[in-house]
Amino acid sequence: MTYIIAEPCVDVMDQACVSVCPVDCIHFDEGTDRTLFIDPNECIDCGACEPECPVNAIFAEDALPAQWAAYTEINALWYSDKDAARAKVNALKPA
Ligand code: SF4
Repeated sequence: MTYIIAEPCVDVMDQACVSVCPVDCIHFDEGTDRTLFIDPNECIDCGACEPECPVNAIFAEDALPAQWAAYTEINALWYSDKDAARAKVNALKPA
């Protein structure tokens, strides 16, 4: 399993989650990305990030609200194809 960053992060990017993650698996490119992404291959499911998010954007994979289901793939995709992940975010929430 992994934790997922969903749509409430888009255009907010508070980044409180980044500083509490013990394995440094939350990333984004400053000035380019509109949201942060959790690396599902590095996340150890500790849950530390979830309560830190001021907009409640972070969920355990099995607790992700259905309307944000696409963000499971989007978080993982960013780590293999950043442009494809960004395109999916832009399609779901136009800037
Ligand atoms: Fe990092 Fe833990 Fe959050 Fe996974 S659940 S992204 S390991 S803080």
